[in-house]
Parts: sequence; C-alpha cells; structure tokens
Amino acid sequence: MERIIVRNGRVVSGSGVREVDVLVVGETIARVEAALPRGADREIDASGCLVLPGVLDVHTHPVYLDDLAALPVTAVHGGVTTLIHYAYAKPGQGLLDTLRRFRDEGEGSSILDFALHGGVFDPASQSSEIPQGMAEGVSSYKMFMTYAKLGWMTDDYQLMRTLDILGRAGGMAMVHAENGLATDYLEDRASAEGADPIQGFVGTRPAILEAEAVHRAMAMAQVAGCPIYIPHVSAQLALDEIREARDKGFRVYAETCPQYLTLTNDDLLRQKTLLKIGPPLRGAGDRDALWDGLAAGTVDTVASDHAPKAKRPDDDFLAAPYGSPQVETMLPLVYDGGVEQGRLTIERLVRVMCENPAKIFGLYPKKGTLLPGSDADLVIFDPKAKRRISNASQHSNAPYTAYQGREVVGAPILCMQRGRVLLEAGHLSARPGCGRFLATAAGRVDPAALR
Ligand SMILES: [Zn+2]
Repeated sequence: MERIIVRNGRVVSGSGVREVDVLVVGETIARVEAALPRGADREIDASGCLVLPGVLDVHTHPVYLDDLAALPVTAVHGGVTTLIHYAYAKPGQGLLDTLRRFRDEGEGSSILDFALHGGVFDPASQSSEIPQGMAEGVSSYKMFMTYAKLGWMTDDYQLMRTLDILGRAGGMAMVHAENGLATDYLEDRASAEGADPIQGFVGTRPAILEAEAVHRAMAMAQVAGCPIYIPHVSAQLALDEIREARDKGFRVYAETCPQYLTLTNDDLLRQKTLLKIGPPLRGAGDRDALWDGLAAGTVDTVASDHAPKAKRPDDDFLAAPYGSPQVETMLPLVYDGGVEQGRLTIERLVRVMCENPAKIFGLYPKKGTLLPGSDADLVIFDPKAKRRISNASQHSNAPYTAYQGREVVGAPILCMQRGRVLLEAGHLSARPGCGRFLATAAGRVDPAALR
C-alpha cells in the first residue's frame, strides 16, 4: 500500500492545533505524531500551512447547473471532500426510486464520497417508504413548511405523521422552516399593492415566521420522539427558539450557511435576482447573531445550500428560482470572516465544518477528523494566501458568484480523499466514479456534545 507523509504542517482538530506529521497508509490515516521517520513513497511538505480534515458539506442540491458529477468538482476546489446531497422526490415520483437513482448516478460519476438525504415532497404517498430508505443507508428526510405556491409544502398533519414514522424508525427529520401560507399571503399583498418585489422581498419572509416554523417543527418532533435538524438558519429569532428548546433537552441541531454569515439584504438590493434565496438574506444584526451562535455552540454546522440556477440579475424577480452557487467559496469565506477576523477559532471552524457534520450524520470518526484509522481525507490550507473571488476562476457551471470581487485570506492548496491526492496546485486528478456512497446514521449524538 502507498505510504504518504504530510510533514511540517499544523494539524487542526476541534480541540487543538498540533505541529505533527501525518502518515497515510493506503486509504486511511496510520499515525499522527511529531517527527515521523522517513521511508514513505511520497512526502508532502505542508510548512506554513494548516492541515484540516476534509470539509463535509451536508447541504447540496445536485440537480441544477451542477449535477452529481459536476458538483463534487467545484466542491473539491473549495476543500470539501464529502457531500450529503438532497435527493428530491417530487410529487409523482417514488421516494425509494429517487434515492436509488441518485445513488446509482453518484456511484458512476462522483469524484467525492457522498451520502443522501431524502427530500419528501408528497408525504401522503412517499413517507411510508422511509423505513426501507433507512435500511438502504439514508437516515435523514427533509420536508418543506414553505413554498406552498410551488406545491412543495407539507401540512401539519403530514408533517406530524412523517415525524412519527421517522421517530419510530430511528431516523432524523429536517425541515425548511418558514410559515409558507403566511409568507405567500404577504407576497400576494405586496404584489397587489404594486410594491417593488426586490425592495419588499425580506419583508414578505420575516424572521419571526421562520422562528414560528422552527418552534412548531421542534414541538412536533419532540412529540414524535424524533431528532430534528434545521438547515439554513438565517435569523436571531430562530436561534433563540433553538437555544430554548435545547435548554429543555430537545434533540435539535442547527445549521447556517456562508451566505447568511457574509451577505445581507443590501447585497440582494445590488445583485437582485442572483441573491433570491430562501430564507432571505436579512440584516447585519442577524448576520452577527449567526457568527455569535456559531462561536457559542448554538449553531452546530455550516453547510452551503449549493443550488446554482440559471438566472440573470434583471430577470423577473417573482418568477426567478431560489438558490445560488456556494460550495467552492464556503471554506475560504468562513475562514476569512471567522478565523481571520477573530469571530471564530480555527478549532471551532473544524468542529462546525468537519467534526460536527460527521457526528450528526453518523460518519465520525471515519470522516471529519484526522485520527489513526480515519479515512485519509485532508486539506492542506494556506492561511496566508490572498485571493479575489471571481466567477472566472470558480469551477461551478453557474455563470455568476455571489462574491464577485471579494478579497479573502486563506485557500485550500491540496485535497486528499482516502489517500488519493485529488487536487494539487490547482490541478485536478480524479476519475469520475471514484467516490463512494456512504450510509448515514443521523441524529444519534447529543447536541450538548457538539459545542
Ligand atoms: Zn437547500
């Protein structure tokens, strides 16, 4: 088996930074110690750099401009080595059929290891398939409490029923938490009054209606005895609800995304349709509260919600789809905005982007850490590299980035997955299909252990 030593780097875990070498044998990490003896097939010098566990991005949508083959390519350029994709079963589609189709396609084309969440759009006909989906390695299922007009919303009856099925089967629920009927009314009222849809956007999806849906979903999950994960938390009011529920011992996990940490509604006003996302970008107060929540342990994970759609800034705002490309810029933005600007320690960054997502989805310590026996998924990160983000240099198929021209400090310069160097000095060498499907076991860790 090939032996690689990564030497002279600062190896980061959730509990500290150590100047040690890393010996990789075959697909796994064999030793993490100072001054390892020579005798490897290859030595990689990480002087001046951080050695991080490969980032897990547990919130990606491989069905828009970047598919199951393309999304991992843009991801690995951002230091991400494991993905958990949403497999959306639209009305009329079977849930199991959808999960199997995503798995087969990913196994044939993905350069990164990946797992799946089920996306339940029509719970009345799909939720009964959840126990079988769990037996096939998919343990987390998402429903929408919003997008009523799009026909995606789950009502409380079916939400309660699905939480019950998940609770009994030992799975984990995820919800897009915004009160969909209330926000649809507010949007209709704004249209009827002739309001500018961009100026009025955040007002039609107010933070308190996100917080209300978070509260309702957590209450129902508690009744069902089902752990629940809230993706893309965007508002302080929602965080307050989560903190309170956790104080009561509820098993609830919270995720935020780089866009909510680094952009506000002012950016929407400038970039217009390109930054139409749900929940919406809010004010600086919410943005700062998310950084505080991330540092204090109320927010457990950062994930990208990568969903690049074909749109131009001046497209019809109301008709335009929600979503933006995010996966490649996520680690640099969180490093720059968090560690470089003193809002987050490097150890906490590794917790929220590597260890915690691995623990929540039952992939730890195989993924998310650099311990002997772990998969050799690692990123060499140059903390001094200065770059300007531009659409021309990103690898997504999206013709835009939300961060055009933004200067960030810190860049991944080498990414390894299971002992294979996938990316080095900007050069990608990976065979489509070398990624593996990962079965998850979500919601088993006590949220108190993630702080
Ligand atoms: Zn999403």
